[in-house]
Amino acid sequence: MRYISHVMKPPEILSPAGNPEHLETACLYGAEAVYLGVRGGANLRAGARNFSLDELAQGVSYAHDRGVRVYLTLNTYPHDAQMEGLPDIVSHAREAGVDAVIVSDIGVLSLVREIAPDMPLHLSTQANTVNSRALRAWAGLGVSRVILARELSFEEISRMKAISPVELEVFVHGGVCISVSGRCLISNYLCSRDANQGRCTQPCRWDYALVERSRQGAYMPVEERDGYTFLFNSKDLCLLPVMDRVMALGVDGLKIEGRGRTALYIATAVQTYRKARDAYMNNPQGFALNPEWMQELGKISNRGYFTGFFLGSPDEQDINYDFSGYVHTHHLAAKVKEIKGELTVFEARNPLIEGMEGEWLSSDGMSRKIVFWNMMIEGCRRERIRPNELFEMKAGFAPLPGELVRKPCSEGDKVIRKEACNTFATRMST
Ligand code: SF4
Repeated sequence: MRYISHVMKPPEILSPAGNPEHLETACLYGAEAVYLGVRGGANLRAGARNFSLDELAQGVSYAHDRGVRVYLTLNTYPHDAQMEGLPDIVSHAREAGVDAVIVSDIGVLSLVREIAPDMPLHLSTQANTVNSRALRAWAGLGVSRVILARELSFEEISRMKAISPVELEVFVHGGVCISVSGRCLISNYLCSRDANQGRCTQPCRWDYALVERSRQGAYMPVEERDGYTFLFNSKDLCLLPVMDRVMALGVDGLKIEGRGRTALYIATAVQTYRKARDAYMNNPQGFALNPEWMQELGKISNRGYFTGFFLGSPDEQDINYDFSGYVHTHHLAAKVKEIKGELTVFEARNPLIEGMEGEWLSSDGMSRKIVFWNMMIEGCRRERIRPNELFEMKAGFAPLPGELVRKPCSEGDKVIRKEACNTFATRMST
């Protein structure tokens, strides 16, 4: 069945920006909006570097110069003591020209209304909006966009969209909680770090065993699969294989999760979803999933992929029983700093050895092979380059400052990832 949207306004591709570098990467690789948090500012990625208030203003200016919107996340559930700094942050956000503030808590919502009455308000997925009456209620409180809960199916979102008085945004890619969007106390209980304050340590993904009180040190396995028990270790959301249905929803924003992830993750995920979105917009009837897009997403860090609740409730296949961390097939090798005539100045991000092959991730969507050769530092040829060193090289092509070069990582990682990716691809095609 072919799913065609009657609403042809393209949904904006929203990228995470955990720091200023990520914001620049997102702008370069095709994001139309970024969402970010400020330090100490009630955002759900307290562990990310985030932005100072000065960096927020600079980031907004940088993004606006490139036609990219900036949304500020104030989406924790702050207690009274944590509300104190918020008025100042909201004032700075208004002065900086932030395009919208993302909130969850109704107290924060009323605070933003009071301090910046003209500031558009987006409701975070943390508010768990799963029905149309809630959409109308939030609209009545001044919310202009609702980021829907991830626990919704295609049919449910379609029905809500048809009568929604507000813009809708959906998550298409990234990590998910086994609980309802972070409404969870496991991290608080085990590590005194509250998920709803943006400080989750992700203990749901740890490998657990059973210990009987009188036999300390004797760990009895609780096995689901050969020697492993990852009871709550959800795979990552990936709606790329059902992009035709996602587009047919006619929603206003497609969001990529990951303010704690890397520049390479952002560049790859943003560019891939932008390509798929644009391909659909150019030819809805003829839209077909390009297998290379899925291969691209297999190269960035992930826990294996699934389609969340979009096609119905997840089942046991959507838990990752094989490993608790991330896998990826590629690392960031280097970043283009500047162009000096025929030479390109790179900043190494991983160790480089002469003769090593990499892949230039061009911001125009074309990847190209690159060999690290004749790497020069202060006029001397170097066979090895350490992370963070700047070196010059003739690239053999015309990169732009900020573009990234990736390289394959170890064989072990590749094998695991390949299996996870193959399994997902097989399930999606049946
Ligand atoms: S412990 Fe797991 S389920 Fe709970 S908030 Fe953290 S990531 Fe989500």
